Amino acid sequence: MNADLEKLIELEKADREIARLTEEVATLPKRVAAIEEKLADDKAAVEHAKAAIKNNEAGRRKLEADIQTAQQKIIKYRAQSSSVKTNEEYRALMNEVEFAEKEISGYEDKILELMIGLEAEEKALKTAEAQMKQETAEIEKEKADVRARTAEDEKLLAELSARRNQLREGVDDSSLAHYDRVMRQRKSAIAEARGQKCLACFVMIRPQTWEDIRTNSQIITCSSCARIFYYDPANEPPPEAPPAPKKKTKVQPASSETEAQPEEAPAQ
Ligand SMILES: [Zn+2]
Repeated sequence: MNADLEKLIELEKADREIARLTEEVATLPKRVAAIEEKLADDKAAVEHAKAAIKNNEAGRRKLEADIQTAQQKIIKYRAQSSSVKTNEEYRALMNEVEFAEKEISGYEDKILELMIGLEAEEKALKTAEAQMKQETAEIEKEKADVRARTAEDEKLLAELSARRNQLREGVDDSSLAHYDRVMRQRKSAIAEARGQKCLACFVMIRPQTWEDIRTNSQIITCSSCARIFYYDPANEPPPEAPPAPKKKTKVQPASSETEAQPEEAPAQ
């Protein structure tokens, strides 16, 4: 095989792997950011639940103070009632007492409501705290994974970049310039020629060019997509067998074409 062609094939593999790894390295921190966002939501939920419990407790303390105030009023009214002169004054005081008692009953209802609410709020806090704990553990694991993966990718990238530079140095300038141009535009610059077709853009190849490509002895580019051709004889289907005599049996012998065609092109 032509030495430049051989290097360009390897260079393309390196370039594509470099592109894949570079993209992966760029995406990895986004995975961490997504979980960190979730964790921030969990923290907010914990804070929210704590604030609700605090409000509940403050509300109860206020109502308990209100009850005490009302009870003191009742004591005061009852004390006054023993020294009033008229029935009217007495009834007025008793009305005040009744009013204060109703107030107390109202406050007690509210305290009960708050106590029932507190159970739900404490449950919500526990759930939020458990969720946060779980996600904190997950994020630590994810961060460690991302760190390890990034380090591994970066090591590979360094190796590939060195290999890439080495390969580029050995290739003829104009072939390299063509390769770079096609690579920039199409993200791949090498195409297999098989069955007299370009396997990247499927254009038919002229017979003379096809013969030249099959020797792998020069850089030949696709007239349609401009990719650089290589030929792998292992992937070429064998010449068509003469048509077999027609048989009536339903069982078809496996065709030689499918037998001989490997599913994947072997490595160069
Ligand atoms: Zn093509």
